[in-house]
Amino acid sequence: MGKVFIVGLDGATFDVLNPLIKMGKLPNLSKMLQAGTSAILESTPFPHSAPAWASCLTGVNPGKHGVFGFGVRDEKNNYRFQLVNSTSIRAKTLPLLLTEHGKSTGLINEPLSYPPYPIHGFMVSGLMTPLTASHFTFPPELREELLQAVPDYVTEVSPDQFDLKESQGEAAYAEALLASIRARAKASRILMNQKAWDVLMIVFTELDRLQHSFWGRINNPSSSGQKEDRSLDAIVSRTYEEIDTAFGDLLEDLPAKTQVIVVSDHGFGPSERTFYMNRFLEEHGYLKIKMVRRFPSLRSPQSFMRRIFQITKISGNHLTKSETAGTMNHRDPKNFKKRVEGWVLEDLVDWSRTKAFADQYGIRINMKGREPKGIIAPGKEAEALIDKLKNQLIQLKFPHNGKSVFADVQKGHSVYLGPYADRAPDLVTFTETGFPHPSYTTKDVFGKLESMKGSHRREGVFLAWGEGIRKGKRLERASIMDITPTVCYSLGIPRTIEMDGVVLDIFEDGLDPKRLLERSGTSVREKGDVIPFTPEETSEIEAKLRGLGYLD
Ligand SMILES: [Zn+2]
Repeated sequence: MGKVFIVGLDGATFDVLNPLIKMGKLPNLSKMLQAGTSAILESTPFPHSAPAWASCLTGVNPGKHGVFGFGVRDEKNNYRFQLVNSTSIRAKTLPLLLTEHGKSTGLINEPLSYPPYPIHGFMVSGLMTPLTASHFTFPPELREELLQAVPDYVTEVSPDQFDLKESQGEAAYAEALLASIRARAKASRILMNQKAWDVLMIVFTELDRLQHSFWGRINNPSSSGQKEDRSLDAIVSRTYEEIDTAFGDLLEDLPAKTQVIVVSDHGFGPSERTFYMNRFLEEHGYLKIKMVRRFPSLRSPQSFMRRIFQITKISGNHLTKSETAGTMNHRDPKNFKKRVEGWVLEDLVDWSRTKAFADQYGIRINMKGREPKGIIAPGKEAEALIDKLKNQLIQLKFPHNGKSVFADVQKGHSVYLGPYADRAPDLVTFTETGFPHPSYTTKDVFGKLESMKGSHRREGVFLAWGEGIRKGKRLERASIMDITPTVCYSLGIPRTIEMDGVVLDIFEDGLDPKRLLERSGTSVREKGDVIPFTPEETSEIEAKLRGLGYLD
């Protein structure tokens, strides 16, 4: 049986790939496209890295793995979020399934793999790994090995270290991202050659970071009309080229008969405006704010911070006075206020008069018996409210250009199915101009986006190539949930009972109908506790996610 090599390109899109391939700039990815099978890969209903990578690695929809975004509702209090980590994925991941079948996996930099967990194989954790983590590998001793071989290996380049308002800072950030691609490729090549594996998966997250910050600076048809400083024009294409080179280097060492899959968790496109969902809900009488909008005086940073932490009961409580002051020195208090409110709704909303509220991932009905202070009866009353809101949102237009705010609004229970579906939003909303923002203390319902130049799209990338893979074939459809079932099929492992994804028709020999029907084993993860981050880790990761523009 052969091996499978998976390269995850966070945020890669054909909208950039295709023009660059035409220009002859990506020889290795181009080879895959021409001599393999390709498809536009549909992401999760909310095309966000956390649920998308979780679905990629499990083959199930978020209703079965329980990850809908970077935050997850805890069971006791549904108005609160906890940051997700590898223990939050409540379905078995590909490495765990392969372990059950005696196969080994190498997993490098997958965004939800911290804390690393025991598998047959090895693991280097990705995004959401706390800087303070004493270990981010499995087995633990791999950490030393890795850092000795590649001392400049980094999980994530933090944009906070650069002044992105200056073109010098932008260039330095871009260079750091390029360097991190090289370091990750170098480390991966060493591990690829030194360790045993049946499946090796490496995720590069740099394209996503770069496109968030620099989307407008792309030398491609969709941005040709834009007047901008063109000096950084080449940055996006240079990063795709760096990825292509790294990919080519890795292909050189690939064992014979290995099948190669390239997958992105979501696509990308421009973003200019944001939609403040809770402001909208408030304006239309669905949500009531308990607190006055004006917070205690901002004149004293310490007292402001303490008050905020008191109100929101978030992890800042542990900060000492001097640390608090230190934190404030680096932050614009108004911005900080917005951020804190965006993340924790609980104590600022009058729940007794609130029918619906929004988080970053959609809108929840304040439902009796489900939410701790719910007021809307489940069934008829809730359904009527969901329908009404859905219609209102579908018809909503951006005032500056008259375009629809939402590409699509879907009912949560029609797209999320499974034991965790009740933690999902009741309405899944996705605007094509950026993530909807949960803040409700803004003055306006619509706002301009300053730092986020690009945002996610549902259309990602799928490429497959190698021994036994169909050549020059384009599939009509493919979903992020199909990756794990397809890899399992390739390795002779049946789908589990729960898998929603299907086996993609990428094999030269076609698909064996008998094997396709075979299902055995389960994706349900053994009862194990979800291990939350410590308060220190939480604030550190939140700060990082904010820096990346995800929690703003
Ligand atoms: Zn992503």
